[in-house]
Amino acid sequence: MKLRRMYRRCEALLRDLDIPNPFDVRVLCERVAEDRGRPIHLEAVSLPADGPCGLWISTSATDYIFFEERTSPFHQEHIIAHELGHLLCDHGKPAAQNANALHGMLSALDPQMIGRVLHRKHYAQAEEQEAEIFASLILQRVSRRPSEPVRRVPSDAAGVVDRLDRSLRHQPADPDR
Ligand SMILES: [Zn+2]
Repeated sequence: MKLRRMYRRCEALLRDLDIPNPFDVRVLCERVAEDRGRPIHLEAVSLPADGPCGLWISTSATDYIFFEERTSPFHQEHIIAHELGHLLCDHGKPAAQNANALHGMLSALDPQMIGRVLHRKHYAQAEEQEAEIFASLILQRVSRRPSEPVRRVPSDAAGVVDRLDRSLRHQPADPDR
């Protein structure tokens, strides 16, 4: 799939979402779950260092999004948004062998129950890209959330910027520029 088409698809998905304001990725997942009539369980787990930071597992009745517990809340938010992208874009294929491999890691899940497993390493590159586009589009929007204070340049830095600005303006014009 072409990048442009992915963007359009993700934008269209986002238009249908009721994005909470102030943003909370967990509330967003709850709203998506309600719309779909399927619960989404979010669970922080310790994932292998050489593996993905998150994964989405779809069972007959429930969607599970697992995310790395040993990372920052911002990173976790990104991971969850990315996995939600996979879920909403309907990525992945049935993968029984992955289900068995995961069973040890996620002992709460019965491998027989697992219909689809999305694991970063097994994804098609296009699906990875699309999920990442989805996550970045959401997080771009919420970075403009109005409840957040506008970041100001600290006063000492402002002085430096001001001096720099003045010195640049007083420089003789560069004819090559
Ligand atoms: Zn992914």
